[in-house]
Amino acid sequence: QPSIAFEKVSFGYDEDRQILDELSFEVPAGSHVAIVGPSGAGKSTIARLLFRFYDPLSGRILIDGQDIARVTQESLRAAIGIVPQDSVLFNDTIGYNIAYGREDASEDEIVAAARDSAILPFIDSLPDRFDTEVGERGLKLSGGEKQRVAIARTLVKNPPILVLDEATSALDTRTEQDILQTLDRVSENRTTLAIAHRLSTIANADRILVLDHGRLAESGTHAELLARD
Ligand code: ADP
Ligand code: ADP
Repeated sequence: QPSIAFEKVSFGYDEDRQILDELSFEVPAGSHVAIVGPSGAGKSTIARLLFRFYDPLSGRILIDGQDIARVTQESLRAAIGIVPQDSVLFNDTIGYNIAYGREDASEDEIVAAARDSAILPFIDSLPDRFDTEVGERGLKLSGGEKQRVAIARTLVKNPPILVLDEATSALDTRTEQDILQTLDRVSENRTTLAIAHRLSTIANADRILVLDHGRLAESGTHAELLARD
């Protein structure tokens, strides 16, 4: 499993406003780090830089000790799987939605991803499970079901790194707990960076970083942070 390191990373979307200010942190190989902080703190920007949607103005981002500026877009995408807040599903079959981005995936791989995302019990009850159309003209999925399809889509790539960008923020509390359990399970063998705005959703993180105005305000374990407040 790869490690992730941000080294004095500064970034702004435009010249007159700095979003990240010499930010440094590390996600040790195989560990789970969560980033929390108020809305606008720069949390999602961290995920976008990791994917190289943007490049830092200064500083470096390393995956497994390698500057991502020198890594191909293909290997970066293969290494990192993201579960976003609002996953967009296509008006197509469940199978198509899971295999999207991995068109060469075998039926077995799709089934495994579906099982790991715990969507299988749900689609199992349908006659032609992977051929079931979802969306406008097909089966209407709930928010939680959509997230499970999105998790399966990520898992079918078998990425060693998992980025959860407010993956459960749009869900009701009960569904959130179900999806969090699944995410805990699927992130077990992966280096994981979870972006959240509530401490309650990241109870299992090895380390929590509190971001404020693009800087680390504090960091520690869940218990340490609770003890300080
Ligand atoms: P968070 O995820 O912590 O809520 P973001 O990283 O999304 O914060 O955003 C940090 C700041 O950058 C916010 O003030 C936001 O308005 C600004 N921002 C985000 N995306 C863009 C963009 N594409 N162009 C300009 N400003 C942006
Ligand atoms: P693919 O890897 O299948 O070609 P994309 O090119 O759409 O997929 O995106 C690459 C990766 O970035 C995908 O894992 C996708 O989920 C993720 N991604 C797409 N849009 C965003 C976004 N706005 N913020 C964060 N991640 C995104």
